[in-house]
Amino acid sequence: MTDDFHADVLDQFHAVRDGLAAAEAAAGRPAGAVSLVAVSKTHPAPRIRPLLEAGHRLFGENRVQEALAKWPALRSAFPDLELHLIGPLQSNKVKEAMALFDVIETLDRPKLAQALTAEGERCGRRPRCFIQVNTGAEPQKAGVLPDAADAFIEDCRRRWRLSIEGLMCIPPHDEDPTPHFARLAEMAGRHGLPMLSMGMSDDYPQAVAAGATHVRVGTAIFGHRGI
Ligand SMILES: *Cc1c(COP(=O)(O)O)cnc(C)c1O
Repeated sequence: MTDDFHADVLDQFHAVRDGLAAAEAAAGRPAGAVSLVAVSKTHPAPRIRPLLEAGHRLFGENRVQEALAKWPALRSAFPDLELHLIGPLQSNKVKEAMALFDVIETLDRPKLAQALTAEGERCGRRPRCFIQVNTGAEPQKAGVLPDAADAFIEDCRRRWRLSIEGLMCIPPHDEDPTPHFARLAEMAGRHGLPMLSMGMSDDYPQAVAAGATHVRVGTAIFGHRGI
């Protein structure tokens, strides 16, 4: 692996940081209002390290097994990093996920809420969670359906006593994302939830305009996922 290869990732990272700053300014939001979750799924540790060395600390992965293979070593070198799970979580992987991830962004069903609460009690640490909302009600997509979201958010907080920090969504591929972002923001506002994880490589400026506090950007930083 050449230095050029790493320089590439850093250049792209800086371009996204600039894009994010421009989007914040355009939306009339303060600089630094939006956190950049660098989505490193499918990319090996040597591509991730340059970002850590440059001071970036916030990353997202979508698979527990893959993250387990990469992140324990990176975390021992950079103990203050923050890792978000942004992909589906099976309840039988909750223990592993809670040991590795700082924030679970994909809480979307009662069985998972129950498992997170049980594991939190067992290990004496309440998991930090975002609830994923399937704003487009797409059958194949994870996330609680919009109609069921209000009741689920309430249950997570009151019944399962989980620490719900915000909401997350992945709008349908083929639609204007802005109405989906607006719907998520409205729902979060209604429940007094401060955090909104929305926006990816192709649409993060729109998400920033709609109030995102976290954008999840992979391809624009790390390049296309080969395999
Ligand atoms: C892969 C992924 C992203 C990043 O998508 P890009 O288009 O590569 O920026 C964001 N969110 C989730 C949930 C993902 O799985």
